[in-house]
Amino acid sequence: MSKPCQLCGSTQHETVSDFDRSGKPLKTVICMGCGIITNEPIPTDEELAAFYRTDYRKDYKGAAEPRMRQVWRNFGRIEQHLKQNRDIYAGRRLCLDLGSGSGEFMFLAGKLGIECTGVEPNVDYSAYCRDKLGLNVTTQTLEEARFADGSYDLIRLSHVLEHMRQPVRSLKLLHRWLSDDGLLYIEVPDIERDAELKMGGRAFHFGHIFNFNPVTLRLAAGMAGLEELPVSRSRLGGTTGGFFIKAKTPFVMPANLKENAERLKAAMDVHNSRAIPRPKQGTALGRFFSTMGLRLKEIMAVRRFSTHRDIAEHFGSQI
Ligand SMILES: [Zn+2]
Repeated sequence: MSKPCQLCGSTQHETVSDFDRSGKPLKTVICMGCGIITNEPIPTDEELAAFYRTDYRKDYKGAAEPRMRQVWRNFGRIEQHLKQNRDIYAGRRLCLDLGSGSGEFMFLAGKLGIECTGVEPNVDYSAYCRDKLGLNVTTQTLEEARFADGSYDLIRLSHVLEHMRQPVRSLKLLHRWLSDDGLLYIEVPDIERDAELKMGGRAFHFGHIFNFNPVTLRLAAGMAGLEELPVSRSRLGGTTGGFFIKAKTPFVMPANLKENAERLKAAMDVHNSRAIPRPKQGTALGRFFSTMGLRLKEIMAVRRFSTHRDIAEHFGSQI
């Protein structure tokens, strides 16, 4: 008998995969009460620590520095995000970036006058942020990090929540660190989208313990006392990214959870029977050439720069 779902309390679940994306054994189940898809069992702290010490660094190419092309791509995405949401970020002063990675958000937000503190468990990336980009980043995990209540008016959690073994508990902690009018930005991969686009069996990873879709992400946030910022709901609603604020009204379990679980289970069944990836648009060959074109553009773009910092300053000057 498995433990009750951390989100909805149901003990009803079904297996959706027995392997991870590289073919290694990994049992993944869907909760039929709400649709959250998790590793089974949820790994212990010790198992996770061992994984991040060894496999993760290999899986994620533990290069001492990010590649120039990757940095260019990341800066482009963050620049676009900041420009699209400039009104939401306006007036924010103190930001905590949890899982700050290679620091693009911190660098560009700094140019907008937002003072950022970063927390990044990866030793090399946090050192890169400090040494090359001059950012205030400490090397530690979210679990190790401690901040005073109400310290930040902006917290960013991008591609981190899916790695947490108790996401609601983690979000409750962030809720405390936020000021009363604080803003929390959360972004996670969307398992529903991945199930639709990726080849059968290529969706799961030991490090991604909770695989959210838009409904279950908002469920976890709601349980932690957070609600979506109205403007964010209309702009980003339906995606797995959003801006959340401290809820003004008590949380009520949404009525559509069972329906979400059933739809997602059906999507996983289709996914498991898919032998080749489904192109986002057009044909597989067209997608191949369009990706090649983008990569080629990136290669040409970064040739103009001799250091990572030069790329950062280039984007910083146009934000
Ligand atoms: Zn559930």
